[in-house]
Amino acid sequence: MADTLVVWGDELLGYDLGDHPLNPVRVELTMALAREFGVLDRPGTAVEAPPPADDAALLRVHTPEYLAAVKAATPRSRGHGLNTPDNPVFARMHEASALVAGATRRAAEAVWRGEARRAVNIAGGLHHAMPDYASGFCVYNDPAVAIAHLLDLGAERIAYVDVDVHHDDGVQAVFEDDPRVLTVSLHETPFALFPGTGFPSETGGPGAEGTVVNVALPPGTSDDGWLRAFHAIVPAALRSFRPQVLFTQCGADTHRLDPLADLRLTVDGQRAAYLALRDLAEELCDGRWVATGGGGYAIVEAVPRAWTHLLAVLTGAPLDPDSAVPATWRELAAARCPQRTVPDRMTDGADARYRPWSLGNGAPDAVDRAILATRRAVFPLLGLDPTDPRD
Ligand SMILES: [Zn+2]
Repeated sequence: MADTLVVWGDELLGYDLGDHPLNPVRVELTMALAREFGVLDRPGTAVEAPPPADDAALLRVHTPEYLAAVKAATPRSRGHGLNTPDNPVFARMHEASALVAGATRRAAEAVWRGEARRAVNIAGGLHHAMPDYASGFCVYNDPAVAIAHLLDLGAERIAYVDVDVHHDDGVQAVFEDDPRVLTVSLHETPFALFPGTGFPSETGGPGAEGTVVNVALPPGTSDDGWLRAFHAIVPAALRSFRPQVLFTQCGADTHRLDPLADLRLTVDGQRAAYLALRDLAEELCDGRWVATGGGGYAIVEAVPRAWTHLLAVLTGAPLDPDSAVPATWRELAAARCPQRTVPDRMTDGADARYRPWSLGNGAPDAVDRAILATRRAVFPLLGLDPTDPRD
């Protein structure tokens, strides 16, 4: 049994929407940086080529009509969200999207079957795709396809935690009526950002009340506020739900340099979030942890460093944030993206400290009001007391 399975092949870079913010070079540079640090060569780490998801796997989440539309898509197709500015049809779109879905599905399967304690598809996390339409750069919803597979394999309680700056609307839509799946999303408030959903009042459908948790953070939220909110809500919700496996979507578009959103995290804060997710998997799931990438549009400045930290946490030990970015990688990044600023250290110089909710607070600020709104909306449904600072 491997400690960690990294599902990866360069063919995953074929999910390429062309002149578009979701540039696969961010994934290419992530894997290159992780290799520079030896993260993929650690003892106990296995790298495996991705298998494509077949039609039956995709149809667990998507409609037959949508699948047919994606397979037949041309630059003139209309409907099902295709050929909108966000979701242009691209060459071999079905094949590339099915490969991303298959990679995440394989990661989940390996963890469930005990072939690996942890597994990751850094090219995955396409959480906006809906059963019947493409949305938000996402064609097939690989997290949902993978979670559906876990349910088919017999999983009874799966926790999905989404730290992307955008709401996990597609994953929530698929599982909001299913009491076996807890979805937790921390994101910038839908008043300010796509997709315009993810309010605290969305708490799960009939028979699954309390299995949808939404934390809607104000623009400008930084490491301190984000980590305060995470720790005020996520551990208590997960402890109440008692998941067998933790699935995380680790979009890096919370970074302060991200051009599409307005939160203010550093790579140091993002690294602290990955460590907190690891600790929850260890505490609650015997270490079983499936991870994907997600959004992230500061494709040189932030994403490769954030996800290299993620891969390091997944494969055994976090990297020292004070590490220098290797010169060979800096040259590669400058050559691939000449217009971008190449970072020279693995830190943004932040300390990732935060004020724990359990210590109370003075006058609530906007982040505290967001925390309170979520706790009041969903904690009673989970059997938790929204006013108990220990939870
Ligand atoms: Zn995003």
